[in-house]
Amino acid sequence: MTIFDNVFPLGFGTNRLPIKSASDEEGIEKSANLIADAIRAGVEFIDVTNTYSRGKAMDAVKRAFEIYKPIDGVTVKMRLSADKTAADAYNTAESILKQLGISHAKYFYFWSVFTYEEYLQTLKPGGVFEGALRLKKEGIIDNICFSTHAIPNDIVKMLESRNFDAVTISMNLLNSFSFNDVLRTADDLDIGVAVMNPLGGGIIPKNPEYFSFAKGSDDRDVPEAALRYVLAHKPIQIALSGISSHEELQRNLEAVSMEVEEKDEERLNRVNVSISGLENFCVGCNYCSGCPVDIPVMAIMRCRNNLQFKPADQNYAFLPEYVQQNIYVCGKIEQDFSVLFEDTVNPCIKCGKCEHNCTQHLNIIDAVADTYKRAEYSNWSRQDRINKLKEIIDNTPDNTIGIYPSGITSSTIRRFYEDNIEQFKCKIVSFDSNPSVWGSDDNGIMVYSPDDILDVHPDVIIITSYKFKNEIYENIKKYESYGIKIVKLSDDNELPWLL
Ligand code: SF4
Ligand code: SF4
Repeated sequence: MTIFDNVFPLGFGTNRLPIKSASDEEGIEKSANLIADAIRAGVEFIDVTNTYSRGKAMDAVKRAFEIYKPIDGVTVKMRLSADKTAADAYNTAESILKQLGISHAKYFYFWSVFTYEEYLQTLKPGGVFEGALRLKKEGIIDNICFSTHAIPNDIVKMLESRNFDAVTISMNLLNSFSFNDVLRTADDLDIGVAVMNPLGGGIIPKNPEYFSFAKGSDDRDVPEAALRYVLAHKPIQIALSGISSHEELQRNLEAVSMEVEEKDEERLNRVNVSISGLENFCVGCNYCSGCPVDIPVMAIMRCRNNLQFKPADQNYAFLPEYVQQNIYVCGKIEQDFSVLFEDTVNPCIKCGKCEHNCTQHLNIIDAVADTYKRAEYSNWSRQDRINKLKEIIDNTPDNTIGIYPSGITSSTIRRFYEDNIEQFKCKIVSFDSNPSVWGSDDNGIMVYSPDDILDVHPDVIIITSYKFKNEIYENIKKYESYGIKIVKLSDDNELPWLL
């Protein structure tokens, strides 16, 4: 018995709604109708937060509730980088519920817990776990859950703490083997499991030939087969799909609802045999662990699986292919395994231990060398980031630093600076073109309109948007002539700090 028993197996992910910009009223309305239709069709789990779909996903969900009917199967998400205390957790939940126009939700989420250590911080007296318990006690939320890209061992430890009713993990045909222990533990402890990225962030539908082995006689196409493969794992009860059109909604509904002849066990056996037989493919078994110089071999090799496919994420389609690949290798190592190289010098001593133990006989030594080369090209290391921030930020008390735009990347930079360099002494403000956040407090940082730049007059403005950095620069470069330095956080060869 888990909290997801009898919940409809398709969850609605709201990060791919057809909304072009924060002011795209037509897109918001279209999205609201899409979500309303999903609820009408039986969907009971909506994954939403305020940064999704250009910051407008919550508006679309609220409108869907008005169009059809409200449901309480929504994720109320708290981010550990921003919410530190019981009061933060409580206030964040109240504010999200207010934005959604409801007073109660089934799922309160610790969103993107990176490591077991980070989770332990939440248990301190006065910490966010206390806030979550208070919300539960007062009947504002029903269940405490977490979503995570932490390494499987850490996820297992979090599950074993028995503090959570459900977990959302990122699992698909590309990485399913590494979650065996996670799924077993969740099953043993009756913890619900939902899966995000069941289609590998678009890689699977974009490479149907490569993944054709997943398709059985019941499946009309590879995405359908991939969704059914995820749900064939008994502990997984919900597959979250980012939906952007009625066609996608319909296909996904059919994929999870249609009767199929092949039994779940048979499907898993059939597909898993093919995954094990893939050439040049890391299955995540981790027999390569124990590198004498602590190279995270499995993380590197798992993410390098992505090099076999054409990059699929439209968000990065504007970049040269080599940079897109680096996002899929280095960026994913950071996102999925919380690993950032300390510097870009390859420490491999070529002892051969990893290759000797690799069940797939992979050419690990060369792959590690190539990964460090990619990291060097991308300035992807802790030391590179420290150097960059030291160069940009003059942390003296009478200085003001502007960050453009507000939001999650800004808080990530702030945390990185304080964890790796020193506490901020200078004043930090942020600027954002979205009028709905002007005058708000973004985790202790006041958000201003770009029209206020001259009045606020920061010494430097750091453009943190990866995709729109050039566009933002063009809009605000005129302030350079007033003595305001404007820098982009990432150059064109570099990677986004957050994917
Ligand atoms: S060959 Fe290199 S990566 Fe492999 S175990 Fe030895 S030092 Fe580590
Ligand atoms: S042993 Fe080989 S297949 Fe297994 S995780 Fe390591 S690199 Fe991947």
